[in-house]
Amino acid sequence: MNLSSVLEVILDILYPQDILCILCQKRHNDIDDKGLCPVCAETLPYITRPVCQKCGRTVTEDTNICMECINAQYHFEQAVPVFEYTSEMQRLIHRFKYQGVSYLSRTLGSWMAEAYKQRCRWDVDMIIPVPLHPRRERERGFNQAVLLSREIGKSINVGVNKSTLIRKKHTSTQVGLNKLQRRQNLWDAFEVTEPGKVKDKIILLVDDVFTTGSTVDECSRVLLQAGAKRIYVMTLAAGRFARN
Ligand SMILES: [Zn+2]
Ligand SMILES: [Zn+2]
Repeated sequence: MNLSSVLEVILDILYPQDILCILCQKRHNDIDDKGLCPVCAETLPYITRPVCQKCGRTVTEDTNICMECINAQYHFEQAVPVFEYTSEMQRLIHRFKYQGVSYLSRTLGSWMAEAYKQRCRWDVDMIIPVPLHPRRERERGFNQAVLLSREIGKSINVGVNKSTLIRKKHTSTQVGLNKLQRRQNLWDAFEVTEPGKVKDKIILLVDDVFTTGSTVDECSRVLLQAGAKRIYVMTLAAGRFARN
């Protein structure tokens, strides 16, 4: 351990965690109730208009729907990602997922709930988090999408169903795969255990990051096949457009 990390440990003991801004990770004595320093609170990387009406990502050209979505033909009605997947946002989500910093779910979930209230007129019946394979959930200790769903559910007063859509195949990571490889990787990965629970329901599907959309799309396809009426998607962030 080098000197600066020893110093960090001592500072962590002397001062509570929440004096670190959750986004820039700098110490600050003016952290707000969301865990942000004044600079980060002012400059949250919200996705700015104009956005694609299907996937919610910023489009440069004057169009309602991006080229990506014209080609993809997603099964969900609409996706609303809240933030750009900037490097700081990426690190924040990474800490939340892999370092078990589950207390972050309160802030992250509240950002999603705010965006839902401001931007979505969907009137959903139920929230379903994108499931992890049970083995991965055990390793991680929680499913980040479940934690986010609970925060959104509390805020918009909609129940969370985390048992009906399950992940039955342990897929390798999607990182580095192109769109076709992602589809193949997800083939037969999800299952609806009790179709009666989703029949004729308008469902809000929740995940942390929208990259190519293949995971949420495959979940949507399986839910529609089981009789769901419509699927909407909300994610904390959206990655850049994939090449193909
Ligand atoms: Zn900050
Ligand atoms: Zn799009």
